[in-house]
Amino acid sequence: MKIEKIQVLRGPNIWSIRRKKLIQMRLNLEEMEHFPTNKIDGFRERLQLLMPSLITHRCSEGVEGGFFLRVEMGTWMGHVIEHIALEIQTLAGMDTGFGRTRETKTPGVYNVVFSYLEENSGIYAAEQSVEIAKCLIEARDYSLEDCIQRLKEIRERERLGPSTGSIVQEAVARNIPWIRLGRNSLVQLGYGVNQTRFQATITGNTSSIAVDIACNKELTKKMLDEAAIPVPTGDLVHDEEGLERVVEKIGYPLVLKPLDGNHGKGSSINVNDLDTAKVGLVHAQKYSNKVIVERYITGYDFRILVINHKMVAAARRVPAHIIGDGDLNIQQLIDKENLDPRRGYGHENVLTEILVDKDTNELLEKLNYTLETVPKNGEIVYLKSTANLSTGGTSIDVTDMVHPENIVMAERVSRIIGLDVAGIDIMAENLTQPLKESGGAILEVNAAPGFRMHLAPSEGLPRNVAAPVVDMLYPQGKAVRIPIIAVTGTNGKTTTTRLISHIVKNNGYRVGFTTSDGIYIQNTMLTKGDTTGPVSAEFILKDPTVEFAVLETARGGILRSGLGFSYCDIGVLTNIKEDHLGISDIHNLKDLTKVKRVVMDSVKKDGWSVLNADDAYSMRLMPDLDSKVAIFSLDENNPHIKKFAKEGKVTCVFEEGFVTIKKGDWKIRIAKVKSIPITMEGKAKFMISNVLAASLATYLYGFEIEDIANSLRTFIPSPMLMPGRLNIFKFKKFHVLIDFAHNPAGYEAIEDYLSNVEATKKIGIISGVGDRRDEDIRECGKIAGRMFDYIIIRNEKHLRGRTEEEINELLISGIQEAGRNVSYECIPKEIEALKHAMSMAEEGTFITALSDVVTNAIELVQEYQNREILEEGN
Ligand code: ATP
Ligand code: ATP
Ligand code: MG
Ligand code: MG
Repeated sequence: MKIEKIQVLRGPNIWSIRRKKLIQMRLNLEEMEHFPTNKIDGFRERLQLLMPSLITHRCSEGVEGGFFLRVEMGTWMGHVIEHIALEIQTLAGMDTGFGRTRETKTPGVYNVVFSYLEENSGIYAAEQSVEIAKCLIEARDYSLEDCIQRLKEIRERERLGPSTGSIVQEAVARNIPWIRLGRNSLVQLGYGVNQTRFQATITGNTSSIAVDIACNKELTKKMLDEAAIPVPTGDLVHDEEGLERVVEKIGYPLVLKPLDGNHGKGSSINVNDLDTAKVGLVHAQKYSNKVIVERYITGYDFRILVINHKMVAAARRVPAHIIGDGDLNIQQLIDKENLDPRRGYGHENVLTEILVDKDTNELLEKLNYTLETVPKNGEIVYLKSTANLSTGGTSIDVTDMVHPENIVMAERVSRIIGLDVAGIDIMAENLTQPLKESGGAILEVNAAPGFRMHLAPSEGLPRNVAAPVVDMLYPQGKAVRIPIIAVTGTNGKTTTTRLISHIVKNNGYRVGFTTSDGIYIQNTMLTKGDTTGPVSAEFILKDPTVEFAVLETARGGILRSGLGFSYCDIGVLTNIKEDHLGISDIHNLKDLTKVKRVVMDSVKKDGWSVLNADDAYSMRLMPDLDSKVAIFSLDENNPHIKKFAKEGKVTCVFEEGFVTIKKGDWKIRIAKVKSIPITMEGKAKFMISNVLAASLATYLYGFEIEDIANSLRTFIPSPMLMPGRLNIFKFKKFHVLIDFAHNPAGYEAIEDYLSNVEATKKIGIISGVGDRRDEDIRECGKIAGRMFDYIIIRNEKHLRGRTEEEINELLISGIQEAGRNVSYECIPKEIEALKHAMSMAEEGTFITALSDVVTNAIELVQEYQNREILEEGN
C-alpha cells in the first residue's frame, strides 16, 4: 500500500458542504487490492485486539459491532483505514466521526476521506492509520499508546487555547464566521469591514493604556486606593533602607514581590521578620529592580471576571497541592492525584496533570522537603506558587455567592483601569461579605485573564463567559458578514466576476474581487496570478476595507482544499462544458457538475442560485438546489424560461435586442445590447450571456435597474481591463482579435462571434493544451476548421505531458474533419506565428489569435499598431 497524496480540505467541498474539515488521502492499495479483509488470516481478530473500541463503529450495518462484521465478511483496506483514522483521533480526545471511502477510475486507487479537528493531527492520523493497517496485515507489533500520545501532543501544539477556543465556539454557535490569523491564537470574527479581532481574551476593544496600567501593579494599587477600593498597604522598595522604612510603617506579616512579575516568580509570602524580608528582597530583585512590599492578607485566592464592565463570574482558586496521609511520600501522592480522570494532558480535560518543575522544587526546598518526604496526615503541601489551572491548580465557582457590594466594587475596578475584559485577583476569607468587612483586598488586575477556571471549574457551575465577549464584539443589530457573490462555471467566470464587481462598485460599495488574473480591491490589482481558490477568497474576506466580495471560484481550488467561505448570498453558474476533463478524478461533465455544485450548494437558503437556462448540465442541477433559483437565457422562448414565466418567477433574457428582466410575463428592459460595449454591438453572443448572468445576479441582490444599466454601458472592454477577453485591435487594412478561448465551448463562442464579422479572409492562430483529453483537442481543431480560411498552428510553452507532434496531429485531424480543406501551417512560436499572420494579411483580413497566455501577443500587436500610427504621421 502507498499513500499517493494527502490533501487537507478546509471549506465546503465535493464530499460534504457541512463537514468542512476533511483529510482526503489518495491511497494506492497495490497488492492489497486483491486481499479484502476476509482473505487475510486473523485480520479481524488482530484488529479487534489492538483497537477494541472500534466495536462502537456501526458502519453500514447500523448496529454496534457493525464495522467488525463488515471486516469479518470482507471489506477493502481503504475502508478499514478510514475507520482506524477516525478511531485513533477519537481515542486522542478528538471525536470527529465522518468518513467516506470511494474508488477512483484507476483500479486499486481509493480516496479515503475522514474528518479532523486539527490539521496536523489529521495528517498524522492518515499516515498512522495506513501504518497500523500494514502492521495488522503482517501481524507486526504496533504501539497504539505512543500513537495516541503523539496525536495529543500535536493537537495541544496546534489547537486554540481554552479561552480563545471558547470564544470561537460561541461565535460559531451564533453563525459568526471566524478565521485564524497565523498559527497563534489571533482570531478574526466576521468578514471585511465588519470584522472584529481578539487574541486569547484581549479583544479589539481592549485599551492599550489599560493593559499598561494593569501590568504596573503599583500604579494599579494606587489608582484603586485613591478610589477607596481596598488594596494591601505597602510601598515600592529599592534597597534595605527602604525596606526597613516600610516595615516600620506597616508591620508584619509581609509579602515581597517584583514590581512587574508574573506567575508568582520571585515572591516571598507571609514574611514575619526582617532577616527573612531581606532575603526576600534579594530574591525579588532577581526579577525586577523595584520590589513591592505590602501587607500579607490572609484568606483564599479569588478571581472575579468582569466583561464589558459587568461581573460575569467568580471563582476560588487553589494552587496544585497534595494532602498528606502520613504514609505516602510527596511523589507518590502526586502520582495518586494525577490518576484523577479529570486530570488530562494540556488543556484536554477539566484539570491539568501536576508536573514537578523548578517552582515545585523551590517551594519544597523552602519547607526543607524533598519528593521523598512523607507529609503528616492532613497536611497540605502546595506544589505551585500560583493557582493557575495550567499548572494543575483547581477552581471552584462562587459566582452566585458574591456580595452585591463586591460586585459593584469589581465593576468599578474594571472601569477605573479601563479594561474591557478584566480578571480581578482578590485575597479574602470569602466574597460573601463586603471586602471592607472581611478584611480582604485586591491584589492585582489582570489583562487577558484565562477563562478555563470559569468554563470548567473543578467544582460548581460552569459559566459561559465567552458569550458576553461575543455580545460585546457584536451587539445586537451589528453586521457580521459582508455580501458574497460567488461565480463559477467553465467559461466566462472572470468576465462575469468583473462585470458584477463593476456594477457593485458603481452602487457605492468598496468591492473586493478575485479572478484568474489576480485579486483586486476597487480598481487596484493587489496580487497577480490565478487567484480563484480559498486562500484568495480569504484574502478578500480578511481585508478590513472591503464591503462587498465577488469571488471567481474555480474547480482547482474547490478540489484542492474546498471553498474559502461557508456560504454565499448569490451563486452564479455560467455554464458546465468540457474542459480540464481527465484531471483530479474528474472524467466527464457529470463529475464536473459535482464540483461546480459545491458553490451552488453553499448559497444561503434565502439566497439565489443564478443558472444558465441554455446549458443542459446546469439545468439538471436545478432540482437539487436548496436556495431560490433564477435563470437566464439568450432565447426568450427557451422552455425553462417559459416555465419560469408561467410560474411568475424571475428570469433574465435577451429579447428584441434588449437585456431584459422578466417577472412572470412582465418585462423590465435594462439596456439595448448595442449600448453595452462588451457585447461588441451584440455580435458576441457569449458576452451577452455573461451580461445576462451579471445583470440577473445584481438585480436579485437589490440594485436598481437604472444603476445596472449605467454600469453595463460604462464597462468598456480593453486589453488593459480584460486582457484576452475579445480584445480587438484595428489596423488600416486588417483586424486582430486576441482571445483566451481554450476549450471547445470557448471556440464555439468565438465561432459564433466570427459569423457576425465581415472579412475577406479569416486567419486563425490556434494551439492545443496538453493536459486535455484527445477528443477535446480534436474538437477545437474541428471548430477552427469551420471558422477560419487559413490556420496557423503554434505550440504552448508548457506542453503538460504531451509532445508537440501529438498535439498538432490531434488539431490537424480535427481541422480535416471539418471538411473544408482549409490550408494550415505550423509555426511553433506564438510571436512568429502572429508576425507571419500580419505580414500575409490583405485588405479586409481578420486575424484571430487564440491563446492561453496573452500578454506577449498583446504587446506585439500594440507595438505594430503604434508603428502604423507613426508611419501615418510621417
Ligand atoms: P500571576 O501571574 O499568577 O497572577 P503574580 O506574579 O502576578 O502571579 P500576584 O498575583 O501578585 O503575583 O501574587 C501571586 C500569589 O501570591 C497570589 O495569588 C496570592 O496567593 C499571593 N499573594 C500575593 N500578594 C499577597 C498579599 N499581599 N497577601 C497575601 N497573599 C499574597
Ligand atoms: P478561466 O477558467 O480560464 O479562468 P473564465 O471562466 O474565467 O476562464 P473568462 O476569462 O471570462 O472565463 O473568458 C475566457 C474565454 O472564454 C473568453 O475569452 C471566451 O473565449 C470564452 N468565454 C467567455 N464567456 C463565455 C461564455 N459565456 N460561454 C462560452 N465561452 C465564453
Ligand atoms: Mg496574579
Ligand atoms: Mg477566469
